[in-house]
Amino acid sequence: MTGSLRIVGLGPGDEALVTPQVSKALDDATDILGYTPYVARIAPRAGLTLHASDNREELARAKAGLEIAARGGRAVIVSSGDPGVFAMASAVFEAVEGEPQWHDLDIRVLPGITAMLAAAARIGAPLGHDFCAINLSDNLKPWALIEKRLKLAAEADFAIALYNPRSASRPDGFARALDVLKEAGTGDRLIVFARAVSSPQERIEVYRVGDAPAERVDMRTLVIVCNSATRRAGRWLYAPRRVS
Ligand code: SAH
Repeated sequence: MTGSLRIVGLGPGDEALVTPQVSKALDDATDILGYTPYVARIAPRAGLTLHASDNREELARAKAGLEIAARGGRAVIVSSGDPGVFAMASAVFEAVEGEPQWHDLDIRVLPGITAMLAAAARIGAPLGHDFCAINLSDNLKPWALIEKRLKLAAEADFAIALYNPRSASRPDGFARALDVLKEAGTGDRLIVFARAVSSPQERIEVYRVGDAPAERVDMRTLVIVCNSATRRAGRWLYAPRRVS
């Protein structure tokens, strides 16, 4: 039997934001692997094995999915949002790289709606001009690199989407990130805190960088620092298409 591995994105939370392609892969799976809260979104059924694991076990999870596919199973590894954005797709290819026997496996990445796009859509069009995305977690990179990228992105006047802004183990990083942005002269830019987008707990707040309350942000929040040209249109925010 020929096995397969699909690395899929479940979107930001609302089931209506799961693509039909991903739903089909989930329906066809023999095994679904992922971080416990994401696997909890999958309904159990006969013939399906659910493998929930901890956040920090990404490489082991990737290898487990590859082994299931190599044995002939239809493995699906789930991520929230998009699997290629600070998520499992990179971990799978890292596991594949040094293992030639896995190079010809039937592997596909099925995209999902990433948090920054879902958040931007709720507030208007803050990503309508040039933008970038930065992961504020320093688990896998030095904090000095995060500060450098924040500073340069601010100077380049990108809108900046910030993922993983603040966790219990990193309570102070986000306040420090706001300080870096202020030092780079962005204190009067608009900033959006978009929490639990597309879920019943959704909460969207808009501040200026200079007076944004860092403690309002947690791991369920996606932050968008708007570019300097971003304007309000009633309750909406948008980045004008034309910038001189
Ligand atoms: N692969 C995911 C990102 C994983 S990193 C994606 O493409 O969206 C996890 C971070 O994503 C969280 O800390 C938060 O910053 C953001 N995030 C994920 N889902 C979110 C949601 N529904 N609302 C707001 N932020 C979300």
